[in-house]
Amino acid sequence: METSRADTIHLSRAQKLALMMRSAREADGRFLTGVVTTRIFCRPSCRARKPRPENVVFFSTPAEARQAGFRPCKRCGPESPARDRGREVLSRARQWYEATRGEGLGVAALATELGLSPRQLRRIVKEAAGSAPKEFLTSLALARAIRALTTTRATVLEIAFDSGFGSLSAFQAAFRRRYGMAPLALRRGRGPAQGESS
Ligand SMILES: [Zn+2]
Repeated sequence: METSRADTIHLSRAQKLALMMRSAREADGRFLTGVVTTRIFCRPSCRARKPRPENVVFFSTPAEARQAGFRPCKRCGPESPARDRGREVLSRARQWYEATRGEGLGVAALATELGLSPRQLRRIVKEAAGSAPKEFLTSLALARAIRALTTTRATVLEIAFDSGFGSLSAFQAAFRRRYGMAPLALRRGRGPAQGESS
């Protein structure tokens, strides 16, 4: 189970301890736990034996924990849990796009597919890709469109739909926003392909 409650509010020490004590997976990526007696830091979800609460300190990043002289736990590998999860989500999003063409590049459909709320999807993609989910999907679609524009003779309309855009105008607008020119300008700019008579 995921909770988005902690997305926006600052967690108190008591809340972090409670999350750590029940090895809450949803807390991974939000903070790290360090044990002063062992000088080891963990993800909150770590299944290793739980320390006494008075020995626990919290860090926000692995770098911070290392700076404090702590080493990463070998069991839970806390170096970059959020990014690992982000990579997994991005990779599944790519697979979903390739399989479905993004169903009109719909973010809600993607969230459902990944078993995340739209808000969780937004947070994870933002963290891992630095962009909103819609923008991420649009990038995949534009990359596919550019490949088709430069390697096939498909029409712009065919390419728009094959890339997952809901309409020709949506494709043209997204293309222009990203590259500052119309899709056909890219094809014209190439000139006649080798072997083609002009
Ligand atoms: Zn651990």
